[in-house]
Amino acid sequence: MNPFDLAGQTAIVTGANTGLGQAIAVALAEAGADIVAIGRSPMDETQTKIAPLKRRFHAIKADLATTEPCARIVEETCDVMGRCDILINNAGIIRRADAIEFSEADWDQVIDTNLKVPFFLAQAAARVMLKQGRGKIVNIASLLSFQGGIRIPSYTASKSGLAGLTRLLACEWAAKGINVNAIAPGYFVTNNTDALRADKERNAAILARIPAGHWGEPQEIGGAAVFLSSRASDYVHGIVLPVDGGWLAR
Ligand code: NAP
Repeated sequence: MNPFDLAGQTAIVTGANTGLGQAIAVALAEAGADIVAIGRSPMDETQTKIAPLKRRFHAIKADLATTEPCARIVEETCDVMGRCDILINNAGIIRRADAIEFSEADWDQVIDTNLKVPFFLAQAAARVMLKQGRGKIVNIASLLSFQGGIRIPSYTASKSGLAGLTRLLACEWAAKGINVNAIAPGYFVTNNTDALRADKERNAAILARIPAGHWGEPQEIGGAAVFLSSRASDYVHGIVLPVDGGWLAR
């Protein structure tokens, strides 16, 4: 028995069209899972990557700026796939501005997308998982779940909140068969970090601090997602697992 095998499991992955979400969806499919890809953009590229793996794939169009689609996403997943075993709360946004002039709109949009929606999607998924007596929820946190950062006040608040929420949900649901954990990605090459990599000085400073010596490539997040989605992590609850090339060890 391979404890990392996800055959027969259905995984919901939000923000699966690109970046870390796409890489996680592909990694889960490689481990055997069927994928329900959620987002506001077309999922064609992700579907094409998963097609050779012969897993079932279903896309649900949903804008995760509000909680409105949360119940529908889980209902449709159960209708189409017959089950809902894994939820990867990955979709997220970032807004950059000095704290002194940060707008209320940039505060609300980030908190809603990165913290409020993940909670209500977890709640909707857990209602099914509790009946199944089993489930895995993985929140995509950040190094800003541990550190302050600069010029991203709502992002740091949202990701620090998500780490706390991960612990709370783990405490409530661990004895009921649901594992709630988080992954804290370090600095990865995705749309989220375009601005940082375009800034020569920031790019060099970040790179100089990463013990592994390179920005993370999206596929380097996959193993951690498979671990936290599989039986291999059945006694792991409420952790925030850094996948950061050693950044936090520095
Ligand atoms: P990304 O390429 O910008 O991907 C973000 C994903 O979230 C996209 O699929 C995006 O869809 C989706 N999304 C955002 N707002 C949405 C909305 N209202 N409705 C539906 N989907 C929405 O960045 P990424 O790096 O892969 O980010 C994935 C997660 O990792 C985020 O939670 C981010 O905070 C976290 N993270 C990333 C890094 C890093 O270094 N890259 C580090 C720490 C944490 P669209 O393509 O349609 O916008």
